[in-house]
Amino acid sequence: MQYQSEYLQRVYDSVVKRNPNEPEYLQAVSEVLTSFEPVVAKRPDLEKYGIVERIVEPERVIMFRVSWVDDSGKVQVNRGYRVQFNSAIGPYKGGLRFHPSVNLSIIKFLGFEQIFKNSLTTLPMGGGKGGCDFDPKGKSDNEIMRFCQSFMTELSKHIGADTDVPAGDIGVGAREIGYMFGQYKRLRNEFTGVLTGKGLTYGGSLTRKEATGYGLLYFTEEMLNCMKDDSISGKTIVVSGAGNVAIYAAEKATQLGGKVVALCDSTGYIYDPNGVNLDVVKQIKEVERARISEYVKRVSGAEYHDGCSGIWGIKCDVALPCATQNELDGESAKKLIANGVMAVAEGANMPCTPEAIEAFQSAGVLYAPGKASNAGGVAVSGLEMSQNSMRYSWSFEEVDAKLQGIMKSIFHAAFDAAKEYGVDGNIMAGANIAGFLKVADAMIAQGV
Ligand code: GLU
Repeated sequence: MQYQSEYLQRVYDSVVKRNPNEPEYLQAVSEVLTSFEPVVAKRPDLEKYGIVERIVEPERVIMFRVSWVDDSGKVQVNRGYRVQFNSAIGPYKGGLRFHPSVNLSIIKFLGFEQIFKNSLTTLPMGGGKGGCDFDPKGKSDNEIMRFCQSFMTELSKHIGADTDVPAGDIGVGAREIGYMFGQYKRLRNEFTGVLTGKGLTYGGSLTRKEATGYGLLYFTEEMLNCMKDDSISGKTIVVSGAGNVAIYAAEKATQLGGKVVALCDSTGYIYDPNGVNLDVVKQIKEVERARISEYVKRVSGAEYHDGCSGIWGIKCDVALPCATQNELDGESAKKLIANGVMAVAEGANMPCTPEAIEAFQSAGVLYAPGKASNAGGVAVSGLEMSQNSMRYSWSFEEVDAKLQGIMKSIFHAAFDAAKEYGVDGNIMAGANIAGFLKVADAMIAQGV
């Protein structure tokens, strides 16, 4: 990667040297540093205070063994992680991912992105992320419980309501948060808001389940309004994924008058030209925890295809990648552009490769980076923390209204920062800059 700024080049080279074999982390850093070119040119104090070299180095990395007993009585061992990346503006905050692909590079890229995302929400949350290379697929409920308890036995030593507040991510939903919360309480004898995404009967927030998907659509609607004088209404939409983010993105897109024609899981995608029936999808994914291919057995006129990348060959106006990192590459971007896509907004973290982003931006397709457009999940996590601190809870409508306000403010913060720093219309650069400056100023104020 080549930078115009000698300072950024020096920082990037040291990140490459210090973090071998971490491709996802380097990908995230190189994108963010590119956006900082106009900022370091205007703000020489950033170099003086070593802000960029400090922000790319996690404050703390915790790696630990997770041993648990499977249903056959055999001991299994996994590796757990918590990366406490930056606490300049609040306690570390970010999800936990349970997936066999989890490694240090992936957790660091997610933790790094979380710093800027959390800053954009306007709420006082630092950046962190954790997870485990545990594969929840095919595990019994008892195995999930024993694993979560063992994971929390170690993690509990490093977190707390004012220190570090984990939540869900891929493979971690309300069930896992419940088991981990129970174990934390047992070990510490404390009923605190140490995790978010909790069940509604024990301190969870209304709208948290829907927040990432709904927030993605509030952001996309605002972006279409302001940059194209258009809206979601009447648009054909492709959503990748079939988890919590994808399902509630599809739900809000439908409520706003769009037609969602495709969804996918890790084995393949469904295409339903009549608009996906979300009640059927929820039954399959949330209740039965089964494969998306089940859909075509229950809804006539729908098709199922093996493999996921084919989903980007479907003609649509708006594409919402909501599955996982690097799921949408340069080739897929070309197909979407050839089919006339007008906007791409990320529900997952870093789902578009650098080649795909470059293709969208040079074709004039509106592109929203996940750290801005998917911030609704962590924003409502922040609201869950506020409610827990007050020992109070807001109604669905109250939280939803706050979420809408936050997503609109994130869009405008990114849009305005892009304008101010001479990269007009580049929402990715604007989001990186706006998220960064707040953290940078807090770091300067707090000394070394
Ligand atoms: N995992 C989500 C994210 O990527 C939510 C994190 C949270 O609520 O702390 O932002």
